[in-house]
Amino acid sequence: MSAPLPTAEVNTTKALPLILLVEDSMTSMELISRDLREHYSLLHAHDGEEAWQLLLRASNVDLVVTDVQMPRVSGQELLTRIRQSDNPKIRSLPVIVMTTANDNAEKHLAFLNGANDFLNKPVDPLELQARIRVHHRLTHTIRELEESKKALAELATTDALTQLKNRRLFYAQAEQNLADCRRNERDMSVLVLDIDHFKKVNDTYGHHTGDEVLIRVAKLLSRMVRAVDTVARFGGEEFAVLMPETNKLGAAVLGERIRSVIEKEHIVVDGQTIAVTASLGIATLAAEQVESIDQLLSIADRRLYLAKNGGRNRICISDDGRSRFN
Ligand code: GH3
Ligand code: MG
Ligand code: MG
Ligand code: MG
Repeated sequence: MSAPLPTAEVNTTKALPLILLVEDSMTSMELISRDLREHYSLLHAHDGEEAWQLLLRASNVDLVVTDVQMPRVSGQELLTRIRQSDNPKIRSLPVIVMTTANDNAEKHLAFLNGANDFLNKPVDPLELQARIRVHHRLTHTIRELEESKKALAELATTDALTQLKNRRLFYAQAEQNLADCRRNERDMSVLVLDIDHFKKVNDTYGHHTGDEVLIRVAKLLSRMVRAVDTVARFGGEEFAVLMPETNKLGAAVLGERIRSVIEKEHIVVDGQTIAVTASLGIATLAAEQVESIDQLLSIADRRLYLAKNGGRNRICISDDGRSRFN
C-alpha cells in the first residue's frame, strides 16, 4: 500500500480549477490523482465527512469527484448534503460519482441525489478528465449566464444617471404595494417632485453640472425616505416617491421636509454653489378612492402642476391647492 497522500496538492503557479477527490482506497486515489494533477489543483478527502468539512472551509472548490462506498459518510450522503446546502455555491457544485460497474441501483440513486454524472470503476483516467472538463465548463457558463441575467435585470430597472429606480420598477413596486395595502386595509401615498426652473441650471452652469445636481437631489431623496419607500427618477428632472402604509398627513410631512431640505441644501459642483428648489404634488389612496396607480399618479401630477402655478418651491396636497392641514 502506498503512503497516504497529502490532503492538498494545490498548484499555485496558475489558477487551475480545484477538484475535490473523495476516495477511501489509497490505490484508487493515487491512480486518479496521477493523471489529474497536471491539469488541476487537487484536494483529497478519504470519506464523505472529511470531504464535507473541507467544502465548508474551502469555498474555492470547483468540482467534486466522489466514490460511493466509504466509511463514516458515504458518497450518496455527501451528495445529499451538497444539494441541500444553504450555501448556493456549494449547492451548485458539479459532482461526478464513481460507481461500481453494473450496480444500476447505485447509479440510479446517485442521479436522484443530484449527481451531474457518474463513471464506472475502475475509472478510465482519460474519460474522467473529459467529464471533468465538460462539467467544469458547463457550471462556469451557467454561473456567467446567471450573473449577466442579474446584471441585466438591475440595468432594466435602474436609472443610469442617478442609480435610482426607474419608472418601470416604480410601477411594478407600486402595483405590489397597492395590493398589499388593499389586503391589509392600509393607506398608501405617492409624491411627484419636479425641480424648479431646471432649464436655467443647465443654461447657467452647463449640462454636466445639471447632471450633477440631479445626482445630488437623488441622494437627498434616498436619504430622507424609509427603507420600505421607493424613490424613482421618472425622467428629466422629475422624481417620484412611493410610500406604502402612509396616510395623507404622513405624506404631507415628508413632502414638506423634502421641499425644505432641497431648498436649504448647498449643492457645490466644481466650486460653484447652486441653489435649487422643487415643487411637489401628493396623492393618497384612502382620500381619493382610486382604482389604479395611474389614477393616483395623475392626481399627484395635477397637484404638482398646481404647486408650479402657485409660485413653485411648495407642496400641494389637494385639488384646491392646499399645502398643509389646517
Ligand atoms: P419648471 O419649474 O416649470 O419645472 O421649469 P423647468 O425649467 O425645470 O422645466 P422644463 O421642463 O422647461 O425644463 C426641464 C429641463 O430639464 C430641460 C432639460 O434640458 C433638462 N433636463 C432633462 N433631463 C436632463 C438630464 O438628464 N440632465 C440635465 N442636465 N438636464 C436635463
Ligand atoms: Mg470505497
Ligand atoms: Mg422642472
Ligand atoms: Mg419637468
